Amino acid sequence: MQGNQIALPMFGKVKVVLHRPIPGGFKIKTASVTKKADGYYLTLSLEDPTVPEIKPDFNPDKITGIDVGLKEFLTTSDGETVSIPQHYRKAQKRLRVLQKRVSRRKKGSNRRQKAVKQLGKQHKKVADKRKDFHFNTANHLLSKYDVIAHEDLNVKGLARTRLATSVLDAGWSSFLLILTNKAVNAGLLVVPVSAHNTSQDCSTCGEKVPKKLHIRWHECPHCGCSLDRDHNAAINIRSRAEGHPVLKAQRLLSNSRIGCEARALSVLR
Ligand SMILES: [Zn+2]
Repeated sequence: MQGNQIALPMFGKVKVVLHRPIPGGFKIKTASVTKKADGYYLTLSLEDPTVPEIKPDFNPDKITGIDVGLKEFLTTSDGETVSIPQHYRKAQKRLRVLQKRVSRRKKGSNRRQKAVKQLGKQHKKVADKRKDFHFNTANHLLSKYDVIAHEDLNVKGLARTRLATSVLDAGWSSFLLILTNKAVNAGLLVVPVSAHNTSQDCSTCGEKVPKKLHIRWHECPHCGCSLDRDHNAAINIRSRAEGHPVLKAQRLLSNSRIGCEARALSVLR
């Protein structure tokens, strides 16, 4: 690629050997020249003007906690539930049927080959449906809240529980990845909190109210709090995030900003 020219404000036109083409639509932000044994090297850093610069400026009080459930995909601390769509469940059921079909058929047979092909197609279908559902759910939550707290599910021991199966089936971890990426791009916050006893502790008085997995209702004998089990857990998750250092800092920041605005107003008056 001998003979390329690049116009740089600080150098004027410079003849260069391009090692990589410069993608269209980008602005050259900085250029630096280094001298190496075999000549001069020009390093450019590019800026994509279509990507907005993110300044985190969220309202720390627009916060919710989300709990992953066995029955529902998630429950928020406001008591809203998001279910796994029927069409996704159906597609997953069909996937299991096709998996069995493959394992039943004789290795190397044409019929098995055909079943393998069907299985591959169904895998793709399930993955697409799941991704759609995850994107829609993430968008929905981030349009309502600035801060979303969830249980940190990177815990040993979870793998053996019944909840783990439901978490895996619904692709909880890939949902959290999508949610976190979307939040970061919008300058919002997703906070993992400790999952310890979120469903056992009472969200009103803090007393421990032990209950087995099949008990769907939280009934506190200490304070009389009566709530859906997952709703109670979601409130605990939100409470745990409220002490998060980033949220505290943001709260201080927004308080001091309000303070400044109030001062400015009184000066104007
Ligand atoms: Zn209580």
